[in-house]
Amino acid sequence: MGAVHEDEIEPRVRQLRKHVLGASDVEGHTRVVDSAGSARLANSALLVGVGRHRLMLRTGRGEDERARTCSRLQRAHSSLYVLLEPAESLPSQPPELLAAVEARRRAAQRLREGTGHERIIARIPKRRALITGVGGQDGSFLAELLLSQGYEVAGIVRRQPSVYASNLGAVLERIELVDADLLDRPSLNRALEETRPHEVFNLAAPSFVPRSWDEPVLTAEFAAVGVTSLLEAIRAVDPDIRFYQASSSEIFGRPLETPQTEETPLSPVTPYGVAKAYGHFIAHSYRDRYGLFACCGILYNHESIRRPLDFLPRKVARAAAAISLGLESTLRLGDLDARRDWGYAPDYVRAMWLMLQQDEPQDYIVASGESRSVRDLVACAFARVGLEFEPHVVSDPAFRRGVAELHDLVGDPNRAREVLGWTPSVTFEELVGILVDAELQSLSHGQAASSA
Ligand code: GDP
Repeated sequence: MGAVHEDEIEPRVRQLRKHVLGASDVEGHTRVVDSAGSARLANSALLVGVGRHRLMLRTGRGEDERARTCSRLQRAHSSLYVLLEPAESLPSQPPELLAAVEARRRAAQRLREGTGHERIIARIPKRRALITGVGGQDGSFLAELLLSQGYEVAGIVRRQPSVYASNLGAVLERIELVDADLLDRPSLNRALEETRPHEVFNLAAPSFVPRSWDEPVLTAEFAAVGVTSLLEAIRAVDPDIRFYQASSSEIFGRPLETPQTEETPLSPVTPYGVAKAYGHFIAHSYRDRYGLFACCGILYNHESIRRPLDFLPRKVARAAAAISLGLESTLRLGDLDARRDWGYAPDYVRAMWLMLQQDEPQDYIVASGESRSVRDLVACAFARVGLEFEPHVVSDPAFRRGVAELHDLVGDPNRAREVLGWTPSVTFEELVGILVDAELQSLSHGQAASSA
């Protein structure tokens, strides 16, 4: 295999991508690919995605299969532009494979240094990402994902970093926090100039929908005008930056069709939904007018223990746990018949990242595709702790949303599945189980600590 100069990588990857993706049935075959531009059928690796700077191969399940794939790739590859992803735990990387590929890279590097050999080993340039709202649920999971992918991560937070300590936890030491504000345009230019990101993820916005009625102007400033400021800053500093905009299912409000797709017309109802619709459209405008690589991820409700307790799933999980431990007796809720499409936040941030690794920018629905009622969720959470929910749930008009209640939000995640290879790893029941178990654990610890 011939040496590959760094400058040749991009054209070769493009050529290879065309070749592989042009093949009749990528999913139907398994392949090992080499960086000289040919694709050979083999048994143990499957192309799942092609990023701008690397190929991603999903290897077969099982250690042996992956080890075989790795040794083939070691023989076939002169660069590290192949990233092996284990099929069962995308997108984390199998350490043993990476270690083997890394060892080969170091050996080749030594060869080059020791002999003056002209072979040049292409290095993957460190990718840099800037995340606005890095201290929130999604920002913190995304920071963890990007760090695990070898990125340098910078983030913008509005308040003191200590406020976000519980979300950012261990990664706080590994990310750079930048002083900037979506409402302060010059600060955004400075942040981009200082951090020089390849990718910007715009996740900053107030996220609790009912509050947007109390703060409609602030909501619009962040979720609408703030997006424009950031896009302007990107245009001024580096128009090659890839941009992710956090759109939301709220842009469909009272939807014109169900399930919703990327083509469903927007019909927002709440100030939050309206502001997010603006953000969605302005990202499109900049994509069309200036050719920016801008993707909108239309994410449906996604939860984790990092969600504030205001949101229904954590509120319910906490109450089920507290009631089962005898700490509380009732749970006050609004409309039990309201419906949502719920998923697990770490799955959803993976989709964000995948969007920016594609050849072309476009929008994606990220959803489970299943509509569940509030009642389903409550029943599931109480079942987890072995209780019936009816005796404990009290209807409280304060939590009802009246005419602003949305009943038909459910997404069709087909494009994400087909183009990104994305599927959720956690079912609705598993999600509820994760939330309830975490609350049980934290409340039990609290009890143990206070009785010690
Ligand atoms: P949202 O979809 O972003 O507004 O997420 P939430 O988790 O706040 O609400 C999800 C759904 O649960 C909505 O349809 C709410 O009307 C419904 N819901 C019913 N009772 C409650 C409650 O006590 N708190 C919250 N947050 N939502 C509730």
